[in-house]
Amino acid sequence: MNARFELKVAGTAGFCFGVRRAVNLAEEAPQKYPGLKIRTLGPIIHNPQVVTQLTEMGVAQVNSIDELDPGVVIIRSHGITRQLAQQLQEQPNLTIVDATCPFVRRAQEIVAQMSADGYLVIIIGEPEHPEVTGLISYGRPETTLVISRPDDLPEELLSRAKPSRIALLAQTTQTQQVYHEISSALLARKGELRCFNTICTATNDRQSEALDLAEGCDLMLVIGGRNSANTNRLFALCREKQTSSYHIETAADLRPKWFKNKRKIGISAGASTPQWLIDEVCQKLKTIS
Ligand code: SF4
Repeated sequence: MNARFELKVAGTAGFCFGVRRAVNLAEEAPQKYPGLKIRTLGPIIHNPQVVTQLTEMGVAQVNSIDELDPGVVIIRSHGITRQLAQQLQEQPNLTIVDATCPFVRRAQEIVAQMSADGYLVIIIGEPEHPEVTGLISYGRPETTLVISRPDDLPEELLSRAKPSRIALLAQTTQTQQVYHEISSALLARKGELRCFNTICTATNDRQSEALDLAEGCDLMLVIGGRNSANTNRLFALCREKQTSSYHIETAADLRPKWFKNKRKIGISAGASTPQWLIDEVCQKLKTIS
């Protein structure tokens, strides 16, 4: 207990179900496949410290299929493209450990099914995010669209009834608010609209709890990889409620000057942040006076 600060750590801070599952699969792999070269295709999760720890255990990252040797490949939690999955299956002497989160897998299946049924598929998300590039690959290029906000909806789509059938889903880490805004805009048009709310409850729960914390504290810390989309979004939301909010990756990023005249400190962390990084931050805070 820190006498200077009142620390409140969100119960939802840290690994979500899908990330824990992926990291467990990677950690178990050296024992399960002794003597085989084990690699992850891209970072298994968006947390540099976890990636480094796994590398030290012999589970290193490669960035393309060309770098893979025979052995074991682990597919990351946010999935890969359909084409890449196909190429991996065609590699000789390669065992595939699929750590794609089941919720991401479900979204991929929705894109594939709705595309096959002739719907225009609209995915709410960040076009460059690996989860989204994976989702897009399950649809038909000419009838699959990625948008980030209501303004991105093509005018002709809103003003005309055609295409009359639209399926709407989202990258799992999107906010409910943007989903509601876009689905409301689409509901105003004629035609059929099928809404699949693929936003993960882990993301939602984490965001709600962090927002409550941010409102009731003097300073908010959000811990997680700078390359983690869900951590960045969590931080952006917290900063809207609490201007004294900081995004840190590790305890080494803490700056004593932030804590001048601060008493109540709220802490949350992205879904790809391990518990040990959260614990280290709490420990370091005890040394700040
Ligand atoms: S945030 Fe949700 S969808 Fe993403 S990996 Fe975690 S459990 Fe799966």
